[in-house]
Amino acid sequence: MNKDKSELEEIVSELTTYLGFQKDLGIRTVFGSEKKKEEPPQKPQRKESREHEPVGPMSDNEDIIVVEDSVSLFDKSGKVMTLEEIREEIGDCTRCQLHEGRTNLVFGDGNPRARLVFVGEGPGRDEDMQGKPFVGRSGQLLTKIIQAMGLKREEVYICNVVKCRPPNNRTPEPEEMSTCEQFLFKQIRSIKPEVIVCLGATAAKSILRTKNSLGSLRGKFHRYSGTKLMVTYHPAALLRNPHFKKPAWEDMQAVMKELGLPLPKMK
Ligand code: URA
Repeated sequence: MNKDKSELEEIVSELTTYLGFQKDLGIRTVFGSEKKKEEPPQKPQRKESREHEPVGPMSDNEDIIVVEDSVSLFDKSGKVMTLEEIREEIGDCTRCQLHEGRTNLVFGDGNPRARLVFVGEGPGRDEDMQGKPFVGRSGQLLTKIIQAMGLKREEVYICNVVKCRPPNNRTPEPEEMSTCEQFLFKQIRSIKPEVIVCLGATAAKSILRTKNSLGSLRGKFHRYSGTKLMVTYHPAALLRNPHFKKPAWEDMQAVMKELGLPLPKMK
């Protein structure tokens, strides 16, 4: 009885979060009424045969960036490491100056077989304290976005370009990024997601090897090592500027479509 009650409370709380985010975005109607009654919608399963998909043109847009797997820049062996092995390789890292100010190294968190990976910039204060990515204010908004997509946070994988907190949350220096990003590339190779979402320009710069602006990168799928990659606004930018929420949600809807997740209906 109590179990049923707590499950119900959990469902109500998830639904409240979901609807709250939809409302923020100006969406009034969710999931149309034509849905068949008998079958609850099945979550599409992870596709297993993506590895050798040809990298073909994905849209008419000429600004698509296609990047090969960057792990080979650091490691010629071609070995796919497990997340545990990658964490072990990082060890008690002192490779760059960021280690000096850290409380905890923030490796990444979530499903090692996630279909969707979110990549941020680097840990902030809360993340440094807890050793987990996106657990502060930005993280709470990211969790809402994930739930609004119809997913649970534990279903996706969340990590950052640099694994230690930059002082005063400054943007990581190019040298810090180039030292640390090998581990991000190895994490992506290990998980082999179907879609990567870069949260903000730092993640996009690192993975797509570009200096293009976020505004010009977002809203379309690029490719990293054959995996579709969407660039969107960092949750911190959404907190500072709520006008970015609508385009960010459009980016997430494109990701949902790519993953075969049901889209909310707009009025
Ligand atoms: N901002 C990031 O880019 N990453 C985090 O983990 C938290 C905030």
